[in-house]
Amino acid sequence: MKSYKEEVWFNTKRKRELINITPQVAEAVRKSKVKEGFCLVNAMHITASVFINDNESGLHQDFLEWLEKLAPYGKAYKHHQTGEDNGDAHLKRTIMGREVVVAITEGRLDFGPWEQIFYGEFDGQRRKRVLVKIIGE
Ligand code: ZN
Repeated sequence: MKSYKEEVWFNTKRKRELINITPQVAEAVRKSKVKEGFCLVNAMHITASVFINDNESGLHQDFLEWLEKLAPYGKAYKHHQTGEDNGDAHLKRTIMGREVVVAITEGRLDFGPWEQIFYGEFDGQRRKRVLVKIIGE
């Protein structure tokens, strides 16, 4: 069995951002030389997400507006009693998820129609990373 690991780093300009990371993940699959297997992609931070959805800018705006309604920035979260100010980002991350697993078939990410992988940043403007772990034959 082959195994391959790569970290992809981000430092977003904005506090909240959704980034299509499919090209980086596809490149990692290519480098792994795995033809049949699985690819795990997870955020290594508790205020960022990795999720799969459509690469459509209107939908991304809808996600950000919906998340802002569910977990508004600047609210007096109990988490802020620790001195932090990112309670909203922890909640947004939990809603959007920590990781995705994609099958690898014939050396490629085996997506459904329109599926793409996104990094969801909810407390950005600092260096953060995503883990890509690939196993298979
Ligand atoms: Zn926090």
